[in-house]
Amino acid sequence: MNMEATEQEKSQVEEIISRVAETQGVDSEAARKLLHRYGCGGGCDWYKTKSKATGFEKGGLAEEENAAVEAAISEVLPQANDEQVWYVVHGVLCPGHPRKQPS
Ligand SMILES: [Zn+2]
Repeated sequence: MNMEATEQEKSQVEEIISRVAETQGVDSEAARKLLHRYGCGGGCDWYKTKSKATGFEKGGLAEEENAAVEAAISEVLPQANDEQVWYVVHGVLCPGHPRKQPS
């Protein structure tokens, strides 16, 4: 089941990205890639088709990059558990990733 991300979900993810960009001192494109690398399970169409061409590699984040992503997530989605967080993030960043509504 692939449900379109809602406007609210998109703005939450943009907020996470802009916080990561700020704490890491990178542009939003780089921050978006960090968040995607952090959370992508490799299940999305983009990962399957384009990850090699762009040098995208799952995992392999530096410790401080991990920490920055985690901090940004917990600031923007303080009440969400992992399942809910990745439901939202995958819906926006991972086209084609199967989205199952968290219970
Ligand atoms: Zn992905």
